[in-house]
Parts: sequence; C-alpha cells; structure tokens
Amino acid sequence: MAPKDFEVAIIGGGIAGLTLAIALHHRGVNVVIYEQAAHFAEIGAGVSFTPNAVQAMKHCYSGVYSAFEKIRTGNLWPSKKNVWFDYHDGYHDKDETFAFSITSSIGQAGVHRARYLDELVKLLPEEHARFGKRLEGFERDGSGRWRLRFEDGSEATTDAIIGCDGIKSKVRQLLYGDHPCSHPTFTHKYAYRALATMEDAIKAVGEEKAKNACMHMGPGGHMLTFPVNHGQTLNVVAFHTTESDWPDYNKLTRPAKREDALRDFANYGPDVTNLLQLCQPNLDVWAIFHLGDHPVPTYAKGTICIVGDAAHATSPHHGAGAGFCIEDAAVLSDLLADDRVRTQQDIEVVFSVFNDVRRERGNWLVQSSQHIGNCYEWIGQGVGEDFSKVENEINTRNGMISDVDVQGLCREAVGILRGRLGGDGMDKGARL
Ligand SMILES: Cc1cc2nc3c(=O)[nH]c(=O)nc-3n(C[C@H](O)[C@H](O)[C@H](O)COP(=O)(O)OP(=O)(O)OC[C@H]3O[C@@H](n4cnc5c(N)ncnc54)[C@H](O)[C@@H]3O)c2cc1C
Repeated sequence: MAPKDFEVAIIGGGIAGLTLAIALHHRGVNVVIYEQAAHFAEIGAGVSFTPNAVQAMKHCYSGVYSAFEKIRTGNLWPSKKNVWFDYHDGYHDKDETFAFSITSSIGQAGVHRARYLDELVKLLPEEHARFGKRLEGFERDGSGRWRLRFEDGSEATTDAIIGCDGIKSKVRQLLYGDHPCSHPTFTHKYAYRALATMEDAIKAVGEEKAKNACMHMGPGGHMLTFPVNHGQTLNVVAFHTTESDWPDYNKLTRPAKREDALRDFANYGPDVTNLLQLCQPNLDVWAIFHLGDHPVPTYAKGTICIVGDAAHATSPHHGAGAGFCIEDAAVLSDLLADDRVRTQQDIEVVFSVFNDVRRERGNWLVQSSQHIGNCYEWIGQGVGEDFSKVENEINTRNGMISDVDVQGLCREAVGILRGRLGGDGMDKGARL
C-alpha cells in the first residue's frame, strides 16, 4: 500500500485507540494518538477475548495477536481447554452446583489488562502518541483541516478525527450535543472486582472452580471468575442488580467495604461468599453504564467518526466489548489504508462505510449484553430460572459474536468502499 498524504488523529489510547493506531501505522497511514493520561494505562484486572476478537487481532497486525498469545491464560485443566465458562448455581447451598458448560473454539482466553497494554505499546513507535492531551474541542481551520484544542491550552491539526475516547466520549458529546446518546446511562448493575492468589482461591472454592473459568448465577446477582497471570491469580467480578440510581454520573467507581459486597450477596452459597471474603477490606464498586437506552444514530459525520466504547459502550456480560473494539480497528484500518483513499472526501466515504458495516452489530451487542446479564441473574425476559433456556440464550448469542469471518467483514467493507468511490467492487449494503 502506498504511503498516504493525510493524517488521522485518534483521541484516546485504550484498547480501541491503540489497536487501531497499530493497524494504521503498519498499513502506512499517518496516525497520532492524543491521550489525556500521562501514559497509556488500563484500569481493572482481567479482560477475556472471544474467537472473533482473536481473528481481529491477527487481521489488525500479527504483533497484536502475538502479544495476546504471549500472556493469555486459559483454563488450567487440559480437560477444560474448550470451556468458556462452567455455569453454577451460586445461590442454593448444595454439594453439586454445576448447571451447564458453555464451550468455544478457544475456550477461556483471559489476559491481565495492564500487561496486554504493555505489550501493545511496544508495537507503536513513541512519536505516534502525545500524552497529557485531553481533548476540549475542535473546529475547521482556514484550509479545511481540523484544529484540535486540548485542555492544557495546546492545539494540533489533522485531516480526520477518530474518537476512541471510551464510554464518556468527548468526541461523541461534541458530535451530538443535547442528543441523549451523548451521555451513557446506568444499567442498574454494579460490580465488585478483586484479584485473589490461586492458593487462596483453591482454599475458597476447591481446585476445579479456582483453576477454570466459572460463572456463579443467582437471583439479581452473578459472579464470574477466571484465572489470569498464567494461573497465579484468580480474577473475580461480582455483579449486583440494584433498583437505586448511581449516586454520581461523573464517577464510574465509588469506594466500598468488603462487608457491602457480603451484604449484597448475603443469601448466596458458600462459593460466592468464600470468594468475596478474599476481597480487600476496602475496595471500589464499578458502575456499569452503557449506551443501550440511547443508541448512537450514526458512528460517522463527515471526517469525524467514533470507534469502540465511544460508539457502542456495552455492559460487560458477553465479555465482548474490547473484542468489538478490535473488530472495529480491523475494519477501519483496512478502509483507510485502501489505495483509492487519498483526500478528505474519500475519508468521509470511508467513515460512512464504517458506520454502515459496524453500527448494527455494535448496537446489537449493547442490547444483547444487557439481556444476557439478566439471564445470568434469572431475570431474563422469557428465560427466568430455567437453566436450559439460559444455556440456549448464551449459545445462540455467543454464536452471533464469535462465528463471524472477520477477514470477510473487512473484505466486504472494502468492496462497498470501492463501489462508492467508483472503483471496482460491489456495494452490498450493511450487514450484522
Ligand atoms: C467490569 C468490566 C469487565 C469487562 N470485561 C470485558 C471482557 O472480559 N472482555 C471484553 O471484550 N470486554 C470487556 N469489557 C469491556 C471493555 O473493557 C471495553 O469495551 C474496552 O476496554 C473499551 O476500550 P476503548 O478503548 O473503547 O475505551 P477505554 O478503554 O475507555 O479508553 C478510552 C481512552 O480515551 C482516553 N480519553 C477519554 N477522554 C479523553 C479526552 N477527552 N481526550 C483524550 N483522551 C481521552 C482515556 O484516558 C482512555 O485511555 C469489560 C468492561 C467492564 C466495565
């Protein structure tokens, strides 16, 4: 691919911004990330990936996949190699809690977030990132390029803006103003997150449940666990549904005590309560916000577009939000790198194609994730406490997430682009 004359600015260097920048850089597109923090950083502990995400990593750039392979941790028992999660009744106190197993071609594939980011950072030369740059606004300059304004008073210019600035995206707010999608809403679920040593976890729940990914279901709450750090650590996330509103929209976490977690899961079985006992005495509660109440009407306007959580921030119950960020990066990098894309007008077409091929799938994930989270908590509409229905819902929806041909999606997007730019290729319209 011939080098490009234009430059794109990525706002935000999380998984979406970084994988997109890496994919663009390795396709010869000039790219700069503007990140508000002083360095790249991920918050939280583990993130696990589904098969579509792994395909997308390979497609973005081989190094994105090797980084994952280097640090991924699966289930520790060979017999559980293809198990995504074993589902348990986490509520009733009984000896045999097993409900059903959900499998996948890659089984459980978790990484420690900060370690994955450390590996990704190595794939982007440092001159492509600027730190301490919190976007405040943008406007066109006299030549038709964009002038970006940052809170530290500095400015930069660019030909196109890609908002990868997460769930509370400033780019989305600037694009949509008073539209309700400017602000994500509380899903009425929050989560306690903890990391336990494998030794402690085995004492709490026994070897099988500590060394392999488990979902402990209950009424109005569920806990997921999977090993990270090559099996030295167990990642624990316990979700609770509440009727209350979240106290402060501006803060996604609030301080809590271990006793609060134990109170929320007071009537649960010993697996759940024993694992909660391993939490630190002082911990954070994470609010789960999403864009499900007010989906974004379009991911692109002119030479501005939004990607990842900025476009389709989802609750985490499918474990697919970050994977969809990487899918976005695979599609958008192929589009921008296409030889026919030369001018700002071409970039507008690129972004409109990106919107057309990605929005339905992105917005579907947000809705489906909320539903499946309810299924884990026996409050899914039409599903309730019927485990065979819960299992069926998970398998059907996981199939829609995982069983895609990412290379095919990228090829199809480029075909549409070429159709619209007047080259060869076919405009087949959007697909999920
Ligand atoms: C509890 C929990 C568990 C999850 N588990 C999984 C999982 O197992 N699997 C999975 O696939 N997904 C999971 N997800 C979802 C996943 O974490 C997100 O979809 C993904 O991390 C979003 O990445 P992003 O790059 O779009 O946004 P972010 O990671 O939020 O990155 C946005 C970046 O933009 C920067 N930024 C923000 N505003 C500005 C500004 N104005 N100017 C400059 N920079 C700015 C931020 O500092 C940040 O670096 C989970 C989410 C949660 C909450």
